[in-house]
Amino acid sequence: MPTIDIYKIISSTPKYNFHSHTQFCDGKASMRQIVEAAINAGFKHWGFSPHSPVPIESSCNMSMKSVPEYMEEINRLRQEYGSIINIYASMEVDYLGNEWGAHIDYFKNLNLDYIISSVHFIQAPDGTWVDIDGKPESFINKLRTYFHNDIKGVVEKYFEQSVKMVQTGGFDIIGHLDKIGNNASAFCPGIENEDWYKALSNHLVNTVTKSGIFVEYNTKAMRPSHSAVVELLRNNAVIAVNSDAHTAENVNLHRNEKIVYINNLRSTI
Ligand SMILES: [Zn+2]
Ligand SMILES: [Zn+2]
Repeated sequence: MPTIDIYKIISSTPKYNFHSHTQFCDGKASMRQIVEAAINAGFKHWGFSPHSPVPIESSCNMSMKSVPEYMEEINRLRQEYGSIINIYASMEVDYLGNEWGAHIDYFKNLNLDYIISSVHFIQAPDGTWVDIDGKPESFINKLRTYFHNDIKGVVEKYFEQSVKMVQTGGFDIIGHLDKIGNNASAFCPGIENEDWYKALSNHLVNTVTKSGIFVEYNTKAMRPSHSAVVELLRNNAVIAVNSDAHTAENVNLHRNEKIVYINNLRSTI
């Protein structure tokens, strides 16, 4: 259970952000630099969400042994800045199937303020967990090396794993819902307009909205896609607009325009 009322925050102010990365994973700024930038940008609610520890090799994820240090830094910054901004401890947890995800006791026992869950890795036919979230060039390389260029199989796996993640639960916000679309479109332009792709995306949208999990609009990835956002709003999903900032300059990047975009779209549905 989250310690905060996410709905109340989203619906009462645009001055929130629940998704950011720092020195504890692949961020390019320290937690202190990010919090100071957030205060300067007028934020009232700021959530840190380092990439969670994972039981596989990954340079982007935080290690289990640095978690206590992360929580200590949260406490230090709260003592210093807590009267100006609400600081929340979260993680962007990777879902790797039944064995690893936001639902396991390890994450429950961390007593985080809320949890984001995202799919960044899918399993190749040889059993390797492959990060499919990087830049298009690296995705296209991995597609060849691990998946024999089977783009449809990779997309299917991504959505299947996302649906399972939502059904398994244990988290509050789904991160960048259909992000695979960015890399899949780089390999195969127009793929998102294909009927089979739309069916997979719609199935995930319907599963999420039934679950009551909050959906993020991620202004770094520019995701979910326009058609997925329309579908989400038709289903009355509550959307949090997050910058997924990895630098101090980007704490509020594209958030204001995307909040307007979503509000305008909602009023036409
Ligand atoms: Zn992510
Ligand atoms: Zn992120």
